[in-house]
Amino acid sequence: MRVGIIGAGASGMMAAITAANYNAKVTLFEKNERVGQKLLATGNGKCNLSNLEFNMSKYYCADKEKLHTIFGVYSIWDMLSFFESRGMMVRSKNGYLYPYSEQASTVLDVFRRNLKNDNIETVTDCDITMAEYQKDSNTFAVMGNGKVWEFDKLVIACGGPASLKKNDGLTGFKLAEGFGHTINKVVPGLVQLRASDKTFFKAVSGVRCQAKVSLLADGILLGEEEGEVQFTDYGLSGIPIFQFSRMAAYAIEEGKRVCVSVNFFPDQEQKAFEYQMRLRYDYYMDSTIEEFLLGTINKKINQAMLKASGIKPADRISQLGFKKVWEFIMSYRNLTIHIESVNDMEHAQVCAGGVDFMQISTQMESMKCPGLYFAGEVIDVDGKCGGYNLQWAWTSGYIAGRNAAGSSTKSLEVENHGEEKHAEN
Ligand SMILES: Cc1cc2nc3c(=O)[nH]c(=O)nc-3n(C[C@H](O)[C@H](O)[C@H](O)COP(=O)(O)OP(=O)(O)OC[C@H]3O[C@@H](n4cnc5c(N)ncnc54)[C@H](O)[C@@H]3O)c2cc1C
Repeated sequence: MRVGIIGAGASGMMAAITAANYNAKVTLFEKNERVGQKLLATGNGKCNLSNLEFNMSKYYCADKEKLHTIFGVYSIWDMLSFFESRGMMVRSKNGYLYPYSEQASTVLDVFRRNLKNDNIETVTDCDITMAEYQKDSNTFAVMGNGKVWEFDKLVIACGGPASLKKNDGLTGFKLAEGFGHTINKVVPGLVQLRASDKTFFKAVSGVRCQAKVSLLADGILLGEEEGEVQFTDYGLSGIPIFQFSRMAAYAIEEGKRVCVSVNFFPDQEQKAFEYQMRLRYDYYMDSTIEEFLLGTINKKINQAMLKASGIKPADRISQLGFKKVWEFIMSYRNLTIHIESVNDMEHAQVCAGGVDFMQISTQMESMKCPGLYFAGEVIDVDGKCGGYNLQWAWTSGYIAGRNAAGSSTKSLEVENHGEEKHAEN
C-alpha cells in the first residue's frame, strides 16, 4: 500500500511511523525545511506530551461519544508504550507527562530516528498545494514544487494556523474543502484575552496571582477556572484564561457581550470572607484604606482597584464609612472585565474549528472520500492546555496511519468500549 501523508508535525509523524509498521510504503511531506518544528516549542520547550488526568471534559468537539471511542482505540497508555518502546523515558509532574529529559527535542529525535529506521521517504521543503482523487485508477494525486506523486491512500495532517503568521497554516483546510469537506469556523484557542478598557491593566501589567475567573457571554456563564492568572498591559493571560479562551473567541464572533469576572480570594468561602473583612473593618477603623488592604493581595492590584473605584489610598476608613468600604472590598470577589477580543492566531497555541468532525469516521477516514484520512489539529477537535492537544495528535495520527495502511482499527473500538465507559465523566 502506498500511503502519502501531508504534514510532518506530531500527528503526521505518528501516522507515518504507524503506517510503515503496518507494512505501507510511506511518503511524508513537509513544507518546512525540517520535520516537527512546532513540537520544539511545545510545553515551553519541554513538550507536555499528555496528561494522566485524562477525560472527555478536556476536549471540545461535536461528538464526545465518538471522540471517546477513538481514544479507547489508542489511549495515553498506548502512547506511553510507543515512546518507551522506542527508548524515550517519560516523567509525570502532577499528572502532566513530559519526556524524562524535559526537552522537546528528545521527542523529535525519537521521531527522526524512527522515520529513518522505518524507511519512510521524507520530502521536506515541499508545500503540497493540490491533492485529488483519481477515479480511473482509484488513487490520490498529490502536487507540490511542480511535481506529482500518486498514492493508494492519503492522510491530511497539516495542522492549523495557530502560532503562525497571518494567513499561514490554512492549506490543510483548503485541501479538505477540495474533497467536499465542511470547514467549521476557525478561531484562536488557548490564547490571551484583550480587555476593552486598558487603564487598569497598564497599572497591573506583569502581576501573576491566584484567582478564580468566570467567563460570561450576554450574562450567561460559559466557564469557570481557577489558577494563576497573568495580567498583561492589554488584558488577561495564564492557563485559567487559556482554558476558556476559545469559548470567548466564538462568543465575540457571534456578537455577544463577553466579560470575565475575577475573584481574587478564590479559596475563601463568601461567609468566611465577609467575617474576616468585618473584623478587619473594625480593627482598621482609625487607619487609611491603604493600611486596611496591607497584607491582603498583590499591592499593584490593590492600588489599581483603589484607582478604579475613585478611592484615594490615604482616605480614612472612618470617613469612607462601612457601606463604601464594604462595596469596595466585595468587588474583589467579582471584578468585571469587559473583553473586546482575543489575541490573534499568531499568539494562540491551538486553533478551534477546522474539518467537520462529523464527516470523519472513528477510523479517521473521510466520509466524503473513502481512502482519505485526517489527523491532528486540522480536524475540529481541540483540547484544553495540559498535553491534551498532543494526545489528540498521537491518537488520531496512529489511527489514521494504521487504517491507511490497510489494518482496520474497527475491532478495537468494540473491545475497548465497555471498559472505557467508566473513564467518561
Ligand atoms: C507554543 C506552543 C506550545 C504548545 N504546547 C503544547 C503542549 O505542551 N502540549 C500539547 O498537548 N499541545 C501543545 N501545543 C499544541 C500542539 O503543538 C498542536 O496541537 C500539535 O502540534 C498539532 O499537531 P499536528 O500534527 O496536527 O499539527 P502541526 O504540529 O502543526 O504539524 C503540521 C505540519 O504540517 C505542515 N504542513 C502544513 N501544510 C502543509 C502543506 N500544504 N504541505 C506540506 N506540509 C504542510 C506544517 O508545516 C507542520 O509541520 C502547543 C502549541 C504551540 C504553538
